[in-house]
Amino acid sequence: MRSLLPSKTVLDIAELNGKGSIKTYATPPCLEDHPESIVNGKNAREAVLKHEPDLPMKDFVDFFIDNRYYIKGKACKNCSLNETCSGAHVEHVRRYGFPKPKAWMLAKNEPEPAA
Ligand code: SF4
Repeated sequence: MRSLLPSKTVLDIAELNGKGSIKTYATPPCLEDHPESIVNGKNAREAVLKHEPDLPMKDFVDFFIDNRYYIKGKACKNCSLNETCSGAHVEHVRRYGFPKPKAWMLAKNEPEPAA
């Protein structure tokens, strides 16, 4: 039977238990110059959810949706930052589409074989 929770959520719960807290993901580098990032980024406070034994699941879910519900698109596979980047918040993707790597972020191609 498949879990109803996305695997990322399960990882977040494990991180919350292990580290004692989780925080908002950073804006992905490809969106640092996006108008929405500029407007929100400088004024946004970093949200932190602390682990507490009686933490209601609703609080975790609300925190996850607001601060950790980040997704990636197909283009992220070609991004050199794909391994370390968390992607873009789902609301940003709904409004503007999936993120795309900038030219300097494109993963380097394998060297061409010598002739
Ligand atoms: S992995 Fe995707 S979201 Fe992250 S910087 Fe690259 S293109 Fe942007």
